[in-house]
Amino acid sequence: SVRVRFAPSPTGYLHVGGARTALFNWLYARHMGGTFVLRIEDTDSARNTADAVRVIFDGLHWLGLDWDEGPLPAGGVRGDRGPYFQSERRAIYDRALRRLLDRDQAYESDGAIRFRMPRKKIVVEDLICGEVGFDCTLEQDFVIQRKDGSPVFHLVNVVDDLEMRISHVIRGEDHLSNTPKHLAIAAALGETAPRYAHIPLILNRTGSKMSKRDVGASLSEYQEGGYLPQAVRNYLCLLGWSLRENREVFPIETAIGKFELNQIHGSNARFDADKLLWMNGTYMRSLSVEEILPHARIWLERTGFPIAKWEQDYIKEVVLLVKEKVKTGKELVEWARPFFQEEVSFEEGAVNRFLNPAGVQALRELLDDLSEAADFASSALEARFRKLAQAHETSVRTYVHPARVATTGREVGPSLYHSLTILGKERVLHRLRRAIE
Ligand code: GLU
Repeated sequence: SVRVRFAPSPTGYLHVGGARTALFNWLYARHMGGTFVLRIEDTDSARNTADAVRVIFDGLHWLGLDWDEGPLPAGGVRGDRGPYFQSERRAIYDRALRRLLDRDQAYESDGAIRFRMPRKKIVVEDLICGEVGFDCTLEQDFVIQRKDGSPVFHLVNVVDDLEMRISHVIRGEDHLSNTPKHLAIAAALGETAPRYAHIPLILNRTGSKMSKRDVGASLSEYQEGGYLPQAVRNYLCLLGWSLRENREVFPIETAIGKFELNQIHGSNARFDADKLLWMNGTYMRSLSVEEILPHARIWLERTGFPIAKWEQDYIKEVVLLVKEKVKTGKELVEWARPFFQEEVSFEEGAVNRFLNPAGVQALRELLDDLSEAADFASSALEARFRKLAQAHETSVRTYVHPARVATTGREVGPSLYHSLTILGKERVLHRLRRAIE
């Protein structure tokens, strides 16, 4: 049966490349009805592991990538091939080291333990990259346990994949050159190595490997920047994989249905922040308000709006109105601002341009008219604006622009009539009066 794993080192940071590796493993597991394991490779990281692991949990949770085996965020563990923290698996590594020493596949030198690397050509039969030959005739024996007794990455990575019965190792191409060593260790232990599938790198705008320093390289930038996880997940799918029919926006169920390792591209993928932004806007419009709402609440709360005091239905109406017009949560918050502030804050320049003597005169006429309005539905308001303009032999714009600035503080925004309906008569009249004064 298919067993795959995501094996991050807790660095306090989840790179988009790591997130994509997790996603591809998860997609393959779900496609095959297999098992997705989360293993924390924390042998090297001494500092602040709990916080750094939290970053991994949060990132996976945000993307909706649930794991079948591994540590649980609330504490505890799921699965019977654990522990799933490498720092808790020392006895298992000691046993493997013993075995290698007994089979004379490893030896002590200066207190450390070195692996006897076979000096020959090793071919990796990679499910994505194809057959890749490595000339290991000049390879040195390498340390698998340091002098201080701590086991080294190459050993623990292989031992865990074997112990956890991993069938497919799907990981970044930066590990391809480690794979001859990993195959050699598995063989030396007398075990069959898993299949390997190395995913091509993600390149930045300038065409070099996307690194930690690149803007947009950390998943947290999207979590915090008002992106929708559905959109980010969809975008990550496209970094090295695609649906045959060339469709770019698709639900995750479609990706699960079609995901095959041999369809992962062999060439590097380019990270295109503009495309991700575009995709986020697409999701903003196409997801239902119910789906956007939980995220919108977080974005609004983060900005400091006391949204708890507003009715759920009111928040929903505002989100429904503005989500059509914005690409990110940051923009959504800006557009929603006038609906959650007691007093309007005016955009720079808008007052001079629209609340000048002519604008104020228009607002006076509008105030008189709307004071009489019994029906504050958007269609009724639209009719009133038209009639008012006709009566004064002017265009409806004479009223629309000053009214928008007076009630929202902004020159552009979502449909004015709908905005006025949501704000409600009392608040609209109050804001008109305030603008006139
Ligand atoms: N801990 C390794 C990393 O984060 C995992 C390598 C692997 O997936 O085998 O790069």
